Formats: sequence, structure tokens, C-alpha cells
Amino acid sequence: MEASIADCKRAGLDFFNCDNKRARSTQRHCCRIRFSNDVGFDDMASDFIIDEHNNARFDYSIRVSSKARYAKLQIKPYLGLEVVIPTRFPKKAVPELIRQHAGWIEKQLRKHQQQYVKPELPGDIFLAIDDSTTQISEFRSDDYDDNILSLRQWVRKRAWEILPPMLEGLSQTCELDYQKVSIRSQKTRWGSCSSRGTISLNDQLVFVPAATAEYLMIHELCHTRHMNHSRKFWALVESHCADFRYHESVLNRARAHIPEWFQYSMSR
Ligand SMILES: [Zn+2]
Repeated sequence: MEASIADCKRAGLDFFNCDNKRARSTQRHCCRIRFSNDVGFDDMASDFIIDEHNNARFDYSIRVSSKARYAKLQIKPYLGLEVVIPTRFPKKAVPELIRQHAGWIEKQLRKHQQQYVKPELPGDIFLAIDDSTTQISEFRSDDYDDNILSLRQWVRKRAWEILPPMLEGLSQTCELDYQKVSIRSQKTRWGSCSSRGTISLNDQLVFVPAATAEYLMIHELCHTRHMNHSRKFWALVESHCADFRYHESVLNRARAHIPEWFQYSMSR
């Protein structure tokens, strides 16, 4: 979710920050946006809201479409709620939009949940990031979800082997320092950077081409200098990655790169 604290306040939303006692005491308000555990800047238009009126949490992603004329809510198989907004639609208005339609969303999510068919377990796994294909010789368990879990653990292991060295190399080339790297499985977010210099990377980056994963890392490294998406920030990104707009569009469409079994595992 791309919004400043001031933006959130203007939209009538509480900014939730675990390190901030005052913010913690406001948890009971109807709706809040959570960024990360420490004050930082999360990326890509995605987040969740807690609608305490309906006692529900909604994870969602935002897709900005130049063709869309109105904001649209839709439910994607395995991935849940997607909000498609026209270019000029303010992102900060999205949580309110979701709250207004909470009842419809819950009903649709339940309906889709019942329709989900388990995807076939893969015979091999293709990682676009290093152009590698790994054969799956056998599944250890008779339980489908156990096998999915093993596959996810394998992806996480590969992510740890591949992503941190890439980040370290780019940090040195671009002369942008960070403190720590963590790897997570966020549903909709590709990466984030905290004010303490911790860069979080999504393990699904192993499914996107290396040049695009590199762009995402450069983007996060640039946040160590600018904790915002200001003009100065984008100028710094462009100085290290001239094709950043192209890679941004690849990331926006990257669900196509994520295998169905992995998407299914995220709905567990
Ligand atoms: Zn960013």
C-alpha cells in the first residue's frame, strides 16, 4: 500500500506500527493499514485491512489499469481479492472501498473456496531466476498438503541460496548498504525495506526472470536512501536500472510465473 502516515490519517485510517505504543493503543479502531514491524516502506500495491465491524481480515492486491474506467473488486483463484483501479483513482481510498463491500467480498471468497480444485502436484519445478528445471522424483507422503509443504520448503531453501548473494552483489555494485536480509512468503508483496535497513524479499522471486528480481532488489536498496517513492527515489532507481518501468510491469503481471500448486499453497 503506497501511502504516507498523513495519507492514512486523511483517509480516516489508523496507521498501525508495532513499535509505537500510541499506535498500539488505537488498535480498536475500525480499520488500519499495517506496513511492517518497524517503521519502513513496503512495496507494490498490496496490503490487508482489518474490518473490525465485520470482524474480518481482507488481504488484497491492487492492480492499476489504464483501461479500467471504474474501480472493480474481483476474486482471483487461490490469491483472493484483487482491486483493479483506473490510473487516477487514489490508492488510499481502496481500504474504504473494501470495507463498504465487506459482505459481498466475504460471500464471494467463501464461494470460491468451495470451488477450489487442488492443482496437480508438479513433475518438475522451473525456476525462471536461474533458468533451472528440477525433476521431482518422488513425493514422500500420501497426504497432498504435506507434499505441497515439502515443495514450499524446497522453494524457500532455493530462495535462501539464490536471493541473498544477488542482493549482496547489487549492494556492492550500486554502493547502497543494507543491514539484514529476510526472506518471507508474502501473498502479494515482492519486497520491503525497513528504516533499520532490513530488506525483506519474497521467496516467489525465484519464479521471475533474474533481471526483474534484480530490479526489485535495486528498488529496495534505493529505499535505504529514500523511504518514499519521490522523484529523487525514482531517479536513483533509474540510475541503476534504466529498464525499471518494464520490470515493474513484469512484476505486476508476475502471477503468470507462479506455478498453480504454489498459488494453491498460499491459500492454505
Ligand atoms: Zn518502493
